[in-house]
Amino acid sequence: MKLSHRITNITGGGSDGWDVFNKARAMVRAGVAVTELTQGEHDIRTHPVILDAMDAAARAGKTGYSAVPGEHDLRDTVATRIQDRTGVATTRDNVLITPGGQAALFAAHNATCDPGDTGLFIDPYYATYPGTIRAVGAVSKPVQAHAEDGFQPRAADIDAAAEGAASLLINSPNNPTGVVYSRETLEGIAGVCQDRDLWLISDEVYDTQVWEGTHLSPRALPGMVERTLVVGSMSKSHAMTGSRCGWVVGPQEAIAHLINLATHTTYGVPGFVQAAGNFALNAGLWLEDEVAAPFRRRRALAQEVLQAQNVLRPVPAQGAMYLMLDIRATGMSGEDFAYALLDAHHIAVMPGESFGVAAAGHIRVAMTVEDEAFVSALNTICDFATGLANQRAAE
Ligand code: PLP
Repeated sequence: MKLSHRITNITGGGSDGWDVFNKARAMVRAGVAVTELTQGEHDIRTHPVILDAMDAAARAGKTGYSAVPGEHDLRDTVATRIQDRTGVATTRDNVLITPGGQAALFAAHNATCDPGDTGLFIDPYYATYPGTIRAVGAVSKPVQAHAEDGFQPRAADIDAAAEGAASLLINSPNNPTGVVYSRETLEGIAGVCQDRDLWLISDEVYDTQVWEGTHLSPRALPGMVERTLVVGSMSKSHAMTGSRCGWVVGPQEAIAHLINLATHTTYGVPGFVQAAGNFALNAGLWLEDEVAAPFRRRRALAQEVLQAQNVLRPVPAQGAMYLMLDIRATGMSGEDFAYALLDAHHIAVMPGESFGVAAAGHIRVAMTVEDEAFVSALNTICDFATGLANQRAAE
């Protein structure tokens, strides 16, 4: 039977970029001890106080259908949090609760792109971006950011790609580069969105993990509130990846239509998950600080290790749970390096090529194992790269 082009075209027919990760997982299943620095998954689990709130809510009866747009209290909490952090007036009518940030990305593109429309996104990108845009029947079009600009995208490049586009998806703090977009970058992006009448979809799921600079939500820039959809999630901020609790924040009219989409797709997020989310967001900053702390610590440890060598060139790690390292001095592609590292030292990292073409010749290292193992793995990566570079120089 014929399946729709939309569904069969989600991956674009190519590799999904997870080949090294899959190989590492197969090695683990075969009993090999692999240090996995691939996925953006914390090495701590959801805090017990959040689980207690989830358990209490479930036992109190929140196991039936929940309110499709999200429960009032959680929508109010998200609205207040965003209003407090950005200064932009936000009410529950601006908030749709979704099963995680991924569902929010899908919803946001559904709201902004018709089939055949172009959805722009910045390369390097989080692995699901092009497929999410294609999943709504739109055409995904990358705009490259450049290593020499510290992966801050150029407004002129976005403008050059914007003819006829409906939306632009950005992500700061950024996965995979760890870069936090500057005010100048975001103002440039906002200018293009207004000149070209683009929706801006701003993925801010790493907004609690900023090590350098400050997170600025572009919804707060002049003229942007009516054309911006913000994607948020509790996955990264509260180590709740498996709970699937996120949101879209945007203009009331867009949210009203997105509630219709939710009615016809997800039918809401489990009430006990929402109750746990609401508890966690109201528990105070200590909870999100505790989740961010290991990454802040490991980033500092990584800086010490990386300063002691001159082969791997780190992209400034300003936020999120990743390090992006330029390995071009070894003469290898990111993919060849990642496979060679996995074979030789049983350390799994993501090749930059998994995130588009702009990060070719880089690897992404997730800071997601405990400190000692992390430092040891990073030292091994440095030594491995240095050996390859020396070998190359001797040839
Ligand atoms: N956006 C970015 C940039 C991500 O890195 C991720 C997950 O890794 C997501 C969105 C989706 O997160 P979730 O669906 O768990 O909220």
